Amino acid sequence: MRNSELYRRAEAEMENQRAKDLAERERRLTEVTQKDPEIGRLQGEGIRLFQEVARQVLTHPDDSQRLTALAKDKASKAREELTRRLTEAGYPADYLSNVWACPLCQDTGFVGNGLDKRRCGCFEKRVQRLMYENGSPLDRENFSTFDESIIPNDPIEGTGRTQRSQALWARDVCLHYAQSYPSNARPTLVLCGQTGLGKTFLLRCIFAYLLDKGVDAQMVTAYEAFSAMRAFHMGDGDAFDAMVNRDVLLLDDLGAEPLMKNVTTEYMFLLINERTTARRHTAVATNLEPDKIRERYGERFFSRLFDQRHGMAISLAGRDLRLHALK
Ligand SMILES: [Zn+2]
Repeated sequence: MRNSELYRRAEAEMENQRAKDLAERERRLTEVTQKDPEIGRLQGEGIRLFQEVARQVLTHPDDSQRLTALAKDKASKAREELTRRLTEAGYPADYLSNVWACPLCQDTGFVGNGLDKRRCGCFEKRVQRLMYENGSPLDRENFSTFDESIIPNDPIEGTGRTQRSQALWARDVCLHYAQSYPSNARPTLVLCGQTGLGKTFLLRCIFAYLLDKGVDAQMVTAYEAFSAMRAFHMGDGDAFDAMVNRDVLLLDDLGAEPLMKNVTTEYMFLLINERTTARRHTAVATNLEPDKIRERYGERFFSRLFDQRHGMAISLAGRDLRLHALK
C-alpha cells in the first residue's frame, strides 16, 4: 500500500475516533447530569458566558476589557464548581473533558503549534499498524513480549556468553536506551550482527516503547530512507527533512538499500551527521560488520556512526533465531 493511502486511512480512523469521543462526552454528560443536574448547567456555562460577553461588547465596546475579565473570572469559578461537584458525585475531575484516546493530541493527530506543529506519535502508530494488515508488529513485538526461551542457550565461541545471555544483555541495553530518552548521554545506538538475531525486533521494541510515551519517533528501513533521499535529490525534500528532524529515528537494515551514485553515501552521511550534531537519538540496525560499513559508506560516515562520545555499538552473534524458532 502506498504511504499516502496509509495516511488517508489513518486520518479516517482519527476522524472516527473524534466522533466516538464526542459521543462519549455526551454519554458522560447525561450520566452525571442524572446524578446532579447542576453539573449539566455548569458544563455549558463557559459557552453561555462567552456569548454573553460577545453581546455586551457590541453595545459597550469601550468596556470590553473589564467585561472580558469579568466573564473569565465567572467562567473559572464555574469550572471550579463543576470540578467540586464532579468529585463529590464520585467522578474524576476531568471526567467530562478527558475523553480522548490520546490526551496528548486530543485525537487531532497533531501536537505543537505553528512551526512546531507535527504528527503525534499516536498517528504514526496508526500508520505503522495499518502497514501490517494482520495487526501491528508493535503489538506483538515490544519489551514485554520479549521471550528468551526461543533463543538457544549455546555458548558463543570466544565471548564467555551464551546466545541467550547475549540477547538478554542486548535487550537490557535497548530498554535502558528507550527509558533514558531524552537524556541519553550517548544518543546513537548501533546494533550489528548477521541476519536473524533479533535486531529488527529490538528496534521495534524501542519504537513501541517510545510511541507509547508519545515521543516523536519514526522507524524506517534503509530502503525507505534511500527512497526519501532520492526524492530529496530530485527536489522533493519533505520525507528526508522529516527523517533528519525527528526526535528519534530508528533505521533498520542499513546496507540493504541500493548504492546510487551521488545519493546513498552522501545523504546517509548528511542524515547521520545532522542528527548526531543536533544530539538527536538515532538507533541503527545493520547486518554489516563495522569494517564493511567503512568500506561502503566511507571514513567520515563510519566515524560519525561509531563515535563513542555520541553513541554505542553492540554486536550480536549466534544462530538465526527465525530458523531456531521453527524447530
Ligand atoms: Zn495523539
